[in-house]
This record gives sequence, C-alpha cells and structure tokens, in this order.
Amino acid sequence: MLNKLCIFLVCASVAAEDVGYFWHVTDFHWDFSYWTDQLSCNGMNISQPGLFGNQWCDSPWRLVQETISGIKHIKGDVDFMLWTGDTVPHVDNTHLSIALNEELVRNVTELMKNEFPNTPIYATFGNHDYYPNNMYPPHGNEIYNDNYNLWKVWINDTSQDKNFLKGGYYTVLARPGLRIVALNTNMYYTHDTVSMGIDDPADQLLWLENVLENAEKQNEKVILTGHVPPGISAPRGVRWMYESFNKKMNGIVVRHADVIVAMHFGHEHHDNFRIYYGATGPAKVCLFIAPSVTPWRFQILSLKETPHNPGVRLIKYDRQTGKQLDIYQYYMDLNAANTIGYVNWTLGYQATVFYNIPDITAPSMEALATKMRNANSQEFRSYVNWYNTNGAKDFSCDARCHKSVMCGLGNLELSTYSACLKSQNVFNCSPGNCPIVG
Ligand SMILES: [Zn+2]
Ligand SMILES: [Zn+2]
Repeated sequence: MLNKLCIFLVCASVAAEDVGYFWHVTDFHWDFSYWTDQLSCNGMNISQPGLFGNQWCDSPWRLVQETISGIKHIKGDVDFMLWTGDTVPHVDNTHLSIALNEELVRNVTELMKNEFPNTPIYATFGNHDYYPNNMYPPHGNEIYNDNYNLWKVWINDTSQDKNFLKGGYYTVLARPGLRIVALNTNMYYTHDTVSMGIDDPADQLLWLENVLENAEKQNEKVILTGHVPPGISAPRGVRWMYESFNKKMNGIVVRHADVIVAMHFGHEHHDNFRIYYGATGPAKVCLFIAPSVTPWRFQILSLKETPHNPGVRLIKYDRQTGKQLDIYQYYMDLNAANTIGYVNWTLGYQATVFYNIPDITAPSMEALATKMRNANSQEFRSYVNWYNTNGAKDFSCDARCHKSVMCGLGNLELSTYSACLKSQNVFNCSPGNCPIVG
C-alpha cells in the first residue's frame, strides 16, 4: 500500500511538472585593452588590476572565459540561453571600429559555441555593440549582416532573415508553445540619434504586435528579450527610451499581456524588475533585468557608482506552460577571486526561497513589491543588497531612494513615475488603481 502510494506520488509529481531551465547572461563589456591601456577604467591608472577583473574596469578576457565555463559547470544541460548584448567595452569610439566591434562579438560567440555546442543561444544587440556605439540605424548595414552570419545557426529559421538583416530582431519557437521574441530596442535608446524621430524604426513595433497576435491565435506563450529595457530605471530615475518609443512599447506589452510570460532584459548592470498592470486587476507582466558580467562602475566627476560583482542567472520554467518558476542568481565575489587566484561562482539567492514567493510570475512579484513597501522589511533590504550583486554591503538606500525604487517598480512612464514621487504613497499602484499605459 505504502509502495503503491509512493509510486503514485512520484508519478503524480512528474506528470504535474515538466521543469526546464535557461541561462540569462548579459553585458560582458570585454575590455581588450585591460592588460595594456586600460581604456575602460575611468581614466585611472590601476597598477594591480586583478586577474579576474577590477570594479573600475570592464571585463578582462579571463572573466569572459570564467563566466562561460562557470555556467557550463553549474548547469550545462539547459534548454536555451538568452544573451542580451553589450559585448563591446565602455571605451571611446576613437579606439573602436566596425571591424573591431565585430571581432569582439565574434570571439565571445565562438567561445559560447565551443562551450555550449548543442544549446541554442538567443542573442540580441546591446547599444555598445554598434559602431559608432548607440547609433543603430533603422535599416540594413554591415553589423547586422555580420552578426546574422554568426548567430543564424542558433536562430535556425530562414524566415527570420529579412527581420534580422533589416532591424536586428527575430522570433524563434524555442519549444512547442513557447516563443522567444528577440528585440533590437537599441533603436529606441535616447543616445541613438539615427533612429530618433522615426515613427517605427525598421517596422519592429508593427512586427512585434503581429507576432504577439499570432502567438495568441496559436496558443503560444512568449518571452520578450532584448537589451535596453522600457520603463524607468530606479533608484536612478532614468528612462532609457525616448518617450514615444517607451509609450508604444508599454502599450504593446499591456495589450498582449496574456501571452507574455516574462520579459528578460539587460543594460542596467543591476538586478532589478518592474511590473506591468492593466487598467484593473492584478499584475500582468514582470520585466526582469539581469545584472551584468562586467563589474565596471562609472565615475563622472564626483559621482561614483557603488561597486558591484559579476552576475549570471539561471531561470527555471514550466516547459508546458512557459510559466516562470524561479531565479537562481549566481555571482562572483570579485575581490575574493582575485585574492585567492581562482573563481567560485556562488549561488547568491534563489528567488522563491529568498523572497518567500511561490514562483516569479507577475502576481508573485507584485506580492514581493507589496512587502518592499516597508523600507525596513527584510525583502527591501535584500533587494538593495542584490541590486549591486552583493558588491556593496554598505550601500545605503535612504527614504528618497526607497520611494524611487517603489515608484519605479510599478510606473513605467516618466509622467506617472514623477507623480508617484510627489505623492504620499510609496507605491502609486494597487489593483484597480493603476496607471494605464498604452
Ligand atoms: Zn552594458
Ligand atoms: Zn547597454
């Protein structure tokens, strides 16, 4: 009887869950001059830059290698990987060229292919990868052509040729019922003056709307991925996209929230998330932002960014429904690695355990955000610690910072975000009382 019951229970749990995993890596920013001219190091002359990296500089090649071999060691048998760009370092365009930028991306692509020969990697451009950086055009060019040749083996669908070659975007059915939509949102970035002012650069938004409509008809679920995320980056209070593009993109997400199981983006270098609401009801979609591999922090005059560690994240999901189940956030303690001479990729947190939520769906992330309204809560202190990938344990996030974070979590337009900052409420949104976007 007991055996039968045990067998029955095991069978039942197998049938109920078909769990899969994928990696999300982003923002390598490989500084090819790390051991020579230190071009990314904020103008500093660092005499002992560190074998695996330095928090004032972009990644040495060794850090790129340790990251890709490290994630293979942690979990090599993933269903796919998301790689959201910015392979080129924070160096002046005078030190870069089309050929050099392509070479940097090619070398990292080859390394990934060698380490993960059987894993499709869905790659997207970062704003730094173009030459001159940020200036993504709304039409074909040499960089789209060259990258397509590198990445088409992963895309593996010739019907996507024209989208990629025209605007650097594509879609792939990663599994039956689960579609990846890989966007080139760099065209909407406020530093892109080439695509600025165009109604719909490379017709990407029209295409996105069509892809989402078709996905709904086909009963598919969708993961949206790309580099520059929509919304307001808190606590900095920065909107990355031009207002019109941000509005259009948010509108599309809300209109098609029922098919979007998650959004996974990069660019911010910090661990962050934002929540989309409809006019009424619970949270609709969660936008996750993964921390960068590069430990680089900026210094502009007296303004210094707090230190952060390299990070990579593993995402657990339900293969049958696309439902996002958990995040395993790994990090490298950079100072410790440099001191001991080898790398320990360490599990920083498992989201469901760390934040005591059942999964990482939008309603669960909303429940986390609700707990974070209390600035003294364990949840908010944990968010602050991991915002810097456990790199700045003394990072103070005062009342103003807390309010900015809470307003940024639920307000993806600058107007409602600013109104939230001025309001008495720390989180200007609750079901039935939420900003309508789009
Ligand atoms: Zn970056
Ligand atoms: Zn970027």
